[in-house]
Amino acid sequence: MGPGLDVGQLVERLRRGDGRAVARLISLVEDGARGQLREVAEALNPSSGRAEVIGITGAPGVGKSTLCDALVAAYRASGRTVGVLAVDPTSPFTGGALLGDRVRMQRHAVDQGVYIRSMATRGHLGGLAWATPQAVRVLDAAGCGVILVETVGVGQAEVEVAGLADTTLVVLAPGFGDAVQVAKAGILEVADLFVVNKADKDGAGNVARDLRQMLHLGAARPWSVPVLLTEAERGVGMDELVDQIASHRAHLESGGELERRRRARAAREVEEVALADLRAELGEVGSGEALDTLAEQVAAGKLGPYTAADQLLVQVRGHAAGAG
Ligand code: GDP
Repeated sequence: MGPGLDVGQLVERLRRGDGRAVARLISLVEDGARGQLREVAEALNPSSGRAEVIGITGAPGVGKSTLCDALVAAYRASGRTVGVLAVDPTSPFTGGALLGDRVRMQRHAVDQGVYIRSMATRGHLGGLAWATPQAVRVLDAAGCGVILVETVGVGQAEVEVAGLADTTLVVLAPGFGDAVQVAKAGILEVADLFVVNKADKDGAGNVARDLRQMLHLGAARPWSVPVLLTEAERGVGMDELVDQIASHRAHLESGGELERRRRARAAREVEEVALADLRAELGEVGSGEALDTLAEQVAAGKLGPYTAADQLLVQVRGHAAGAG
């Protein structure tokens, strides 16, 4: 961070709608220095929680970016401020710049009501689960009514993005995997909406039909997952998609499910932070002599591993209390 520019000042500027402050804050959380993550999260939490967070995931090439772009256009047309986080869990390279770093998104680059940001999470402690919620919090506090979190689907990513979002869209396209693969990857359970993009291509109807059958076979759920056909490139099917996202939102709100999801998300976050702290403390205490001594006794059969772990935790806590 530059001289004389603290988190408090950045937060102040964010509240005034300063796009550069938003970018700086996201960079801070992406860089992930623990002290700063803490400061940003604590400062922004009271003014976040209002945004509608929509996760968009699917294999590379199905048209997620194109769909995101079309969704941004649709939400902007109804006057909403939109944040886009394009998260690539496979890349160690960050997009860096807030605006215009995605070619397809460039038509929105000069729009003050759109914040677009790429993030790379590989190599991060906790990856997607760690930095992304903070980046969402930044956009939320900046006043984005809608936040699109686009993630490349690489197995676990779908499940993680679903943990972040109020509504999760899973995007497929003809030639990019089928319903059976979706079911096998455990994605059927996390999708609130399926989008079969490239509806102009042969086979799109079949993909949609197979998905519907698969969903029909699954356990009945209170929300019946729609399967929509879109042509993101030409903006076809976007109105219905926006309508269905709104229906899902209404469903979440009416049944108390939104609160439940958000509480579960908060619980996970608190737990992650606590575990990271514990791990750091174990690193201080447990990598040294204390652990060596315990390990020796466990290896020699003089102490059970659980008893040893109990003793290690007692030492960590004594250490923390001594330090505090
Ligand atoms: P992503 O990797 O999932 O983000 O996919 P992209 O948005 O980059 O799109 C991959 C390719 O599919 C690009 O060449 C797009 O122009 C193309 N594409 C996107 N939507 C459509 C569509 O509705 N129909 C067709 N035929 N191509 C599309």
